[in-house]
This record gives sequence, C-alpha cells and structure tokens, in this order.
Amino acid sequence: MENNENPTFSSQEQTNAKVVKVHKCPICGKLTDSAQYRPFCSKRCADIDLGMWFNEGYVIEGKAQADEEEGE
Ligand SMILES: [Zn+2]
Repeated sequence: MENNENPTFSSQEQTNAKVVKVHKCPICGKLTDSAQYRPFCSKRCADIDLGMWFNEGYVIEGKAQADEEEGE
C-alpha cells in the first residue's frame, strides 16, 4: 500500500496550483484573480457595472416618454 504512485493525479495537482486566472477588472482596471465576481474584481465593481446599465436604460426610457407626451 506504500507504492501509491499516480502520475496523472500528481500532474493534475501541479497544474491546478500553477494556473492562476488573472484578468483585468473592466470597472477599475485592476488585475484580479477573483472567480466569484468575474469579470470584476469585487462585488463593488460588479454593482457599479449593474448600476450603470440600470441607470442608462432608465434615463432613455424616461426621456422617450416625456418627449412623446409633449407633442401638441
Ligand atoms: Zn474592480
């Protein structure tokens, strides 16, 4: 039971430890390896991106509505 050599397993473990997926946060431009909030570096940046999309859609919708009602 002491001859427990498994080349496949050991090679896999080495790969996992070596590969660190670093990417650039599109909001603050910081390099991050966060997998939870990809592609952002943190929940804060993810929230900022979400807020930007929400605000944009809201403004455009409100503007179009106001423009249409002002046509007498
Ligand atoms: Zn960020």
